[in-house]
Amino acid sequence: MGFDLYGERKEFKLAPDIEWEGDEPPSFEEKEEYFAARQKYERDNPGYYFRNNVWYWRPLWQYVVNMCENIVTVEDATAGMHNDFHLITKTKALRIAKRLEKSMENGDIDRWEEAREEHLESLGNVPCEICDATGYRHMNDSNTPTICNACKGKKEKPHFDTGYPWDRKNLKTFIEFCKDSGGFRIG
Ligand SMILES: [Zn+2]
Repeated sequence: MGFDLYGERKEFKLAPDIEWEGDEPPSFEEKEEYFAARQKYERDNPGYYFRNNVWYWRPLWQYVVNMCENIVTVEDATAGMHNDFHLITKTKALRIAKRLEKSMENGDIDRWEEAREEHLESLGNVPCEICDATGYRHMNDSNTPTICNACKGKKEKPHFDTGYPWDRKNLKTFIEFCKDSGGFRIG
């Protein structure tokens, strides 16, 4: 699962696309050609497309919502966590970009990262559900238990939420996307 953000600028409607004709599925070469053309278009047209998998997107959008309380509405905040092509207008996208840039300059980002670290640490470990918190598994119906490969025999694992990575580089890429997008839809 991932999140695909498409810029709303009029020019982007002319992005290259391939329509499959007939019932034949596209050949390998046709697909390669399509993806190469798409990637070139994305490189040449900043603001056209931004993608994150769900793990990167959730903390990023959380950050946006946190830093832009007076810009992003409750509806935006909620819709941004779902793939329903919710529109963020051009004005809003520009204001978000500006506010996020400011957050990187004035130390808001450092405070947010610290609070996030503290929160994740406070969650502590949770019982390993793979081995039922025994530390051992019976693989392939064998009678000899082996050490659980999920928790490495520790019976517990870090909390699920610690699996969401936070990445400043991703934030910077998103800021540039916001600026060039002309507004965007989160799908
Ligand atoms: Zn385990």
